[in-house]
Amino acid sequence: MTMLAKRMSVVKPSPSMAVSQAAKALAAQGVEVADLGLGEPDFSTPDHIIAAAHTAATEGNTRYTATGGAPATKQAVIEKFHRENGLDFMADEIVVANGAKQIIFNALMATLEEGDEVILAAPYFVSYPDMALMLGGKPVVVECTRADRFKLTPGALQAAITPRSKWLILNMPGNPSGAVYSEGELQALGAVLADHPNLLILSDEIYEHILFDGLQFNSFGKACPGLRDRTLIVNGVSKAYAMTGWRIGYGAGPAGLIRGMTTVQSQSTTNACSIAQAATVAALTGPQGEVARFREAFERRRDLVVEGINSIEGLELDAPQGAFYAYIDCTGIMGKTTPYGVVLEDDTQVTRYLLDEARVAAVPGSAYGLSPFFRLSTATSGDVLSAAINRIADAVARLA
Ligand code: PMP
Repeated sequence: MTMLAKRMSVVKPSPSMAVSQAAKALAAQGVEVADLGLGEPDFSTPDHIIAAAHTAATEGNTRYTATGGAPATKQAVIEKFHRENGLDFMADEIVVANGAKQIIFNALMATLEEGDEVILAAPYFVSYPDMALMLGGKPVVVECTRADRFKLTPGALQAAITPRSKWLILNMPGNPSGAVYSEGELQALGAVLADHPNLLILSDEIYEHILFDGLQFNSFGKACPGLRDRTLIVNGVSKAYAMTGWRIGYGAGPAGLIRGMTTVQSQSTTNACSIAQAATVAALTGPQGEVARFREAFERRRDLVVEGINSIEGLELDAPQGAFYAYIDCTGIMGKTTPYGVVLEDDTQVTRYLLDEARVAAVPGSAYGLSPFFRLSTATSGDVLSAAINRIADAVARLA
């Protein structure tokens, strides 16, 4: 007997979660593992945000809120877009949900017809293709090369567009690549998109604040105002404010789309947690010092990992410009043989070898649609990262 719907046969659990579970299983056996699989800040949520949640709970802010977000939450989001991105939205152009992931899911749920195509720039965030598949869509993967710094080019975008194209999903800074688009690069993509008026654009900007080398963030919405009536900007508090567990994300886009997404929410999760919404107001409107402190820490770790990895023969890493991952090119060790006589034929075998031999949990590039690479999360202490890199170096040195 099969209980599950057919659609589940095309969906897989998140690979980064799977890697993390394998690492935890080893840890449970007493093996010390550096879990560089999962992408979440290792910092604590700033105190003033927790205090706001406490106040909300004790002062009775414990009931259902408006489906698309409490008025105060929407107002804080509106102010954030104005202040940080130079974008102005009305309340009916904003929706708040249980994480950026739910925003993306609701958007696809509200719009995809069976067989509609969703254009993804690989390496992509693991959930995009599976969400599309779950909802009857068809992921169309455009591989972005290291030479293009993992960024979608106007020519490649043009070539991927068909009459069935429904969405283009962009992610900047990118997970896992750390790729950051300049304003000009976004405008060049926008020029292609201008000729395809039925194509919707989802810009996932959740890593906005984790940006290095003094770069300024360019929101897709600001770079391409002419596409405003079909652009959904996705963001949230998980990464910037170390609030992954609070589950708050938000989206800004055309009122008709936002209405559809809010209806999906009204029949599924109702609203995001009232207390987490109050915490989000404090995060978005309160002091931003911690955001800068987190960013600096991530940049120092980025530097440490770039230097460490590039000192290992066979591995290469171009400095990511944002987010907290290292997407490492392992072409140089493909075809090599492990001490047990296994030939490394793909990046899944590489990550298995690293888990066994270096006790480092990493996610294979196959999970992100571009091989042979593996991803390390740098959202952990410099000491853990240094130890992990040393062990990777030793393990790679043992390959023949
Ligand atoms: N988008 C990207 C690119 C991500 O990396 C993540 C988290 N790994 C999310 C969205 C989901 O964020 P949230 O916690 O807000 O659901």
